[in-house]
Amino acid sequence: MKDYYNNKQALLSEIINKAENERILNKEEIIALLNSDGNLLCESADKIRKKYKGDFVHLRGLIEFSNICRCNCFYCGLRAENKKLDRYRLKENEILQCVKFAVNSGYKTVVLQSGEDLYWTSEKLCTLIKEIKKHDIAVTLSIGERSFEEYQAYKNAGADRFLLRIETTDKNLYKHLHPDMSFENRIQCLKNLKKLGYETGTGCLVGLPNQTIESLADDIIFFKELDADMVGIGPLIPHPDTPLANANKDNFDMALKVMAIVRLLMPDINIPATTAMESIRQNGRIIALNSGANVVMPNMTQGEYRKKYEIYPNKICINDSPEKCINCIKSKIESIGRKISETKGYRKDAR
Ligand code: SAH
Ligand code: SF4
Repeated sequence: MKDYYNNKQALLSEIINKAENERILNKEEIIALLNSDGNLLCESADKIRKKYKGDFVHLRGLIEFSNICRCNCFYCGLRAENKKLDRYRLKENEILQCVKFAVNSGYKTVVLQSGEDLYWTSEKLCTLIKEIKKHDIAVTLSIGERSFEEYQAYKNAGADRFLLRIETTDKNLYKHLHPDMSFENRIQCLKNLKKLGYETGTGCLVGLPNQTIESLADDIIFFKELDADMVGIGPLIPHPDTPLANANKDNFDMALKVMAIVRLLMPDINIPATTAMESIRQNGRIIALNSGANVVMPNMTQGEYRKKYEIYPNKICINDSPEKCINCIKSKIESIGRKISETKGYRKDAR
């Protein structure tokens, strides 16, 4: 038994050394890391994060500007068929107020996130982006799938980054979970975003029913092949008003391991400690920041709207103000000896 344990640890060390030195692992090696307890892996990811990204943490202010969505993703509380959700759409001046608050609070990036809400035509979004870009702040969009021309228009209006998770690279699972969407189109969207020069973020959900360890390894390989500039990993949090209401809840540890492997294989990218991680594990974001992450996305959405942006249940800080969120996360970050970055935090920025 002891020999077995020692051999297993030796094999894990060997794989981690290879990842640290060569930045590449084959699928079997990734699977071995995903099947490990994650301790060595997270330690190594923390070391690599420090070496390539330093101790700075980038804050991205998240504005959840509409919870209206035309899609029906099986896992998400904003899905069109969820009739229990009270829908809202912020007005342009409300969004700009949030942006002003972000600028005054020292944020260098705002993330505009919403359901796939077609009220926001290209024209309206471009006007908004141009208005925001009058401030010295980077703009990230997270609004779902649009055409090449639309992505191009937002880019020309000044958008810097785009977040679009692939969610899973298991094609059959993707089709099952997204009845009215196309896997091929999602991949095409990501390629279009890269081609247009966006800093492109993607990522996956961890803990989907029938998702295998093998398919999580494929997800990681996909991020590397796409050369994603950001990768966000979300543990699935089952929402009671969705078809995945009864899915497994206990997805933190696996999500953390996926994230740590991404750091080893993609040492210079931006990796958020996701809100979903904090929502299911106390101090989840701090654990993530100590396991490879270098970004946090504090919620900037005001008042009642926070509760209504219910992608998943028990989201943290739904009764807090943006002021409280920024102070809380700053003190947590400083308590682990990390610093808040004062740059826009592009991938290529050294720190
Ligand atoms: N509509 C846009 C952006 C908003 S959704 C889009 O889909 O790209 C943002 C992310 O929330 C999704 O990419 C998904 O990974 C995550 N999400 C949705 N439902 C979730 C759940 N139940 N648990 C954890 N994350 C979830
Ligand atoms: Fe809509 Fe995004 Fe939720 Fe899918 S994940 S239902 S696209 S908000």
